[in-house]
Amino acid sequence: MTTIEVIKGDITKIKADAIVNAANEQLAGGGGVDGAIHRAGGPAIMAECRQIGGCPTGQAVITTAGNLPAKKVIHTVGPIWKGGHHREEELLANCYKQSLKLALVHGLCTVAFPNISTGVYDYPKKEAANVAIQTVRDFTKENEGLEKVIFVCFDDENYQLYSEHLSSN
Ligand code: ADP
Repeated sequence: MTTIEVIKGDITKIKADAIVNAANEQLAGGGGVDGAIHRAGGPAIMAECRQIGGCPTGQAVITTAGNLPAKKVIHTVGPIWKGGHHREEELLANCYKQSLKLALVHGLCTVAFPNISTGVYDYPKKEAANVAIQTVRDFTKENEGLEKVIFVCFDDENYQLYSEHLSSN
């Protein structure tokens, strides 16, 4: 059984086996959670990102966590919201699935996710929360080996949405 939790806070402070970054296809760093992870983790993360070179939307790659309390950073690239008819839902679900797959391959049992795509990529928060929770639940039912998945919400609205969803069903 995998425990699924929601907390409000800054993902760079989380001591999980892996924290997930909402990256861009160039793995070039940026604002939001991506910027926060690189700032707090130091240059070793970007050095590995440069070597990897990039990551398509919906896929995931793994690097060191540098100076962060986590052991590894999994970088996944969420879809940019373009109205909902550009495979956004499928691509967002893939982010969660591919990140968890990568965690399992690397023997990482606790994984913390930010609310991928709900910042500058503009995915509607309620819909994104539904996709995230459903995908993680399905994956953890079908795959053994994950102890805990933590949704780390930075803003009140996301925290509210995740808390309600997780407590209601
Ligand atoms: P995207 O480009 O995927 O939309 P953003 O970083 O702009 O990525 O936003 C994704 C989510 O990450 C947003 O809900 C934002 O509030 C949240 N966020 C920003 N900083 C942090 C942080 N330090 N820890 C956790 N979540 C964060």
